[in-house]
Amino acid sequence: MSGASPPLDLPKSVKRDVALARYSTVKSGGAAQLFARVGDTQQLVALLVWAQEHSIAVSVLGSGSNLLIADEGVEGLVLKLDRELARVQIDDSHVVCGAGARLPAVAARTAREGLSGIEFGVNIPGTVGGAVRMNAGAYGGALAQILEWVDVATAAGVDRRNVGDLAMGYRNSNLGTGEIVAEVSFALTPASPERIKATIAEMRASRRQAQPGGIKTFGSTFKNPGQAAVEGEANDDPENAAQTAGQLLDRAGCRGLQIGGARFSPQHSNFVENTGEATTADVVALMAEGRRRVLERFGIALEPEVQLLGPVHFPW
Ligand SMILES: Cc1cc2nc3c(=O)[nH]c(=O)nc-3n(C[C@H](O)[C@H](O)[C@H](O)COP(=O)(O)OP(=O)(O)OC[C@H]3O[C@@H](n4cnc5c(N)ncnc54)[C@H](O)[C@@H]3O)c2cc1C
Repeated sequence: MSGASPPLDLPKSVKRDVALARYSTVKSGGAAQLFARVGDTQQLVALLVWAQEHSIAVSVLGSGSNLLIADEGVEGLVLKLDRELARVQIDDSHVVCGAGARLPAVAARTAREGLSGIEFGVNIPGTVGGAVRMNAGAYGGALAQILEWVDVATAAGVDRRNVGDLAMGYRNSNLGTGEIVAEVSFALTPASPERIKATIAEMRASRRQAQPGGIKTFGSTFKNPGQAAVEGEANDDPENAAQTAGQLLDRAGCRGLQIGGARFSPQHSNFVENTGEATTADVVALMAEGRRRVLERFGIALEPEVQLLGPVHFPW
């Protein structure tokens, strides 16, 4: 890695040369030049100020469930939020979460408390912060529908933004690099815990049928093209089938296609699977081939859903 060297004296929480593959669900990529776990907002802002003073780039990862990390590693400081920044507090029908809280845990907890609205999160293996950044969603639900506000930390301090300020669209928001979601509030609706739990059970069952389990992946590789973007589990709907990225990849002959250690899942063509020792370069090469085939056959340019961390680029 090149670039400005970090100072010899680091804040206590900052470690050098920390392997990141284990922090991503696809398990590929190199090491962070600097890495810190951050436990509260004050510590977060202090680290951001320190990084700015030393011209060190900052990035953040959640559960790494939608992330491809550069094989060469990541320059600068990579943050992971935990402790107070992963706490869930319920006040009436408002749920305030640290951005490091895991979405399935928030969905399960609010179900027990009889609060409805975030059931769709039970199968999304990311953190609240990553889910806000991506406007994660499933089964017709998405974060934007229940989000009230987010506290965004930068070196300038913490800035509260309302959902309307975040330009949340299909798997997208306007949060930039270096803008770290620290805390989030959801507005949910009281409902019977039994009914919510039944909905969650149905969602889990339908997910088990539609998507492969127990593989190293980052979920959907490409966004579903077109306005009528539908979730992967709606693949069986013939009205929508031609619109999903999985269906297009399938029809372009990508199911099971493998480059190096990366392959399009035999069960779901829009899921890339690390079959063992895949590098991020293998995954990117496979994505490029899948995208090329779909473009050639259908004239549709698929857009990646997966995010990149470090010096890795899509070759198109
Ligand atoms: C098996 C599987 C199933 C999935 N199913 C779905 C699904 O149904 N619907 C769906 O929408 N997604 C799905 N995903 C993708 C993924 O879980 C979501 O995109 C999730 O929201 C990513 O959260 P994360 O914490 O893992 O973010 P990461 O992958 O760690 O990061 C994603 C992006 O968010 C940024 N980010 C992370 N934390 C913060 C923060 N605190 N502040 C600012 N930016 C931040 C990162 O820098 C990066 O740019 C699935 C993934 C897998 C592996």
